[in-house]
Amino acid sequence: MKIIKIASQMQKIALKHIKDGDEIGLVPTMGALHEGHISLIAKSVKNDDITIVSIFVNPVQFCPNEDYLKYPRPAKKDKEICKKNHVDYVFMPSANDMFPSDHKTFIEIKTLQDILCGAFRINHFRGVATVVAKLFNISCADRAYFGMKDFQQLKIVEKMGKDLNFRTKIIPCSVVRERNGLALSSRNSYLSAEEKKRSLNISKSLKEAAEDFKSRDLNFVKKTVINKLKKIPGSEIDYAEIVNFDDLSPANKNTKKAVFAVAVWIGKTRLIDNIMMIKDKGRSGQ
Ligand code: AMP
Repeated sequence: MKIIKIASQMQKIALKHIKDGDEIGLVPTMGALHEGHISLIAKSVKNDDITIVSIFVNPVQFCPNEDYLKYPRPAKKDKEICKKNHVDYVFMPSANDMFPSDHKTFIEIKTLQDILCGAFRINHFRGVATVVAKLFNISCADRAYFGMKDFQQLKIVEKMGKDLNFRTKIIPCSVVRERNGLALSSRNSYLSAEEKKRSLNISKSLKEAAEDFKSRDLNFVKKTVINKLKKIPGSEIDYAEIVNFDDLSPANKNTKKAVFAVAVWIGKTRLIDNIMMIKDKGRSGQ
């Protein structure tokens, strides 16, 4: 396994692999790797000749009041995890290499970037889309792996890929959870033991919502989750929305395949989670 720190060098290596007929898989991450990331890496190792994991805490996707500086950066442990999981290249660029002071180009995904998390994290998805586009170009990836944990991010990257004719195929990967249901996240390390216990109610309420969605109307499903989330001590809801699975538009009574997406503060930690919900055959949701 090789560690590459410079974008132009990574691109040169990737181009050589393409020339040799290798297919390249990219797993973009911000590091502090856990089993969720490892599931993406495993898929790439299985599908692709070459697996590149990028580890980059992307400054342009953080708002000024967010946790950019305190975001965990366990570089040594991350490299060990990559090595153990048969990664070929770890790409760890500096912020200055990716976004030098004269960087001027940004990608916007209209509408999709302004809803759900985008309504609370101004410019977040513009930063995500831009860094992902750069990583696609640098890695020359045939496939790139994204977790459904960040469902809106996945949809935005898919839309960008389609609209801008990127050749990189987006591979969605299921959410990896602890046995108790908590979705794995690098930010879970901010939670105290007590907060972690409280946050289990997020995934639990979503799981129950997916059951309710089969037979109850949207209002009931939404209100039930909001009430449960409000009851978590020290919680504050940013949003709790039911949207269409395909395009994140608001769900209605005819929606057969939806996603319930939430962002909830537990103390000083903002957690996101979501669940896919499918209507029972023959029901319209009345
Ligand atoms: P991050 O390092 O948080 O930016 O995440 C990098 C990639 O890993 C993104 O595509 C995430 O959606 C994915 N990911 C993070 N947590 C999970 C999880 N619990 N299950 C599946 N994928 C995840």
